[in-house]
Amino acid sequence: MGLLQKMLKQRRDSLEVFQQQSRTDEGLTDFNAETLRNHIAVLASDSLLGRMPFTEGETRTIRYLEQEFTSLGLEPGNGTSYLQDVPMVNILATASPSMKVLGSRGSFNLKAYDDYVIWTDKTDSIITLQDAELVFAGFGVVAPEYQWNDYEGLDVKGKVVMVMVNDPGFWVGDTSLFKGAEMTYYGRWTYKFEEAARQGAKGCLIVHNTAAASYPFIVQQNGFNSPRLQLDNRGKDVKNCDVIGWINEQSANRLLLAAGMDSTMLTRANKRGFKAAPLNLALSTSMNVKATYNLSHNVLAKITGTKRPEEVIIYSAHWDHFGVAKPDETGDSIYNGALDNATGTAGLLELARVFKNLKVKPERTIIFLSVTAEEQGLWGSAYYSQNPVFPLTKTIANINMDGLNPYDSTKAAF
Ligand SMILES: [Zn+2]
Repeated sequence: MGLLQKMLKQRRDSLEVFQQQSRTDEGLTDFNAETLRNHIAVLASDSLLGRMPFTEGETRTIRYLEQEFTSLGLEPGNGTSYLQDVPMVNILATASPSMKVLGSRGSFNLKAYDDYVIWTDKTDSIITLQDAELVFAGFGVVAPEYQWNDYEGLDVKGKVVMVMVNDPGFWVGDTSLFKGAEMTYYGRWTYKFEEAARQGAKGCLIVHNTAAASYPFIVQQNGFNSPRLQLDNRGKDVKNCDVIGWINEQSANRLLLAAGMDSTMLTRANKRGFKAAPLNLALSTSMNVKATYNLSHNVLAKITGTKRPEEVIIYSAHWDHFGVAKPDETGDSIYNGALDNATGTAGLLELARVFKNLKVKPERTIIFLSVTAEEQGLWGSAYYSQNPVFPLTKTIANINMDGLNPYDSTKAAF
């Protein structure tokens, strides 16, 4: 390449950078705080009833999102519809008031709510534990990459496992063990229930600890005997334990004592080489279950790309919150969820408006996806990824917004 050609090319390159820069600026300067605020005000208003899936609050929320996407001139994201049906089931388990513990030294009862909180992801009308053997399974973790397996050599089929919350690294604070104080995926309560089910356990009780769980036991107690949402898994091979839940530390220690052990067993579980052990205790209790099937909805809109329309970029935000529940001290029973996640959903709408207004249209297809039932277990997202409207192999990125910065301008970002 000659010098002149080189100079010309450099000039072309820098012009392109300049043009790209001005395109970015065009989008950035179009964002409008007032529009964002208005969306938040509507989404967090009492009339949307806390945006609980399956309720009038859902109907009103998804209607608002549909209306906004329509008036922005966005195309429906799912064929001719802005909605994706998400088949779900509402499971209301009512636990019997106590759990009988039978050991070699006699029996005693633990009290539901006070000592433990249980529920189920199963839809059978009655769930029972009948003299189910209890096994202390450490952290209930199988993590080959950390050379850790609490279930090694342990047969827990048909039994109840009691496991510690978080992961061993948290308790030891040593980064050579898992990720130290930073919780890994293995520390999550959902993982522990799933792993227990994979191992064939009939039940899984997590020993609560406020620091390790990052919230007090009352949070679990508040959810006792209240409805929980799940994806409708009828006809699918999904493994669940019959009984899952939390037990407080005091009651866990009482169980260890009844088994002739002591509380040091809990602290020994975070050392390498710890061997999980049957406790020779048998648990009995039951739950009545009422399952109600219904449809919830993800809402999605799109802007078709100009050059590579088959490739998609997804912006997402969950629209749901906790609905109407226990009143606070002022008697207000609507959980408005202004931050979590009216802000993210409002951000999605404002982002859609700005994208739609761009003079230079995006080359890839942009999807604006507002998902349901995040608070109950990320179900809307799970359903979308199991039933994607656009092939996952052509999905380049997903940028999710859960709670926008409510404090002040983020000066550091640009
Ligand atoms: Zn959220």
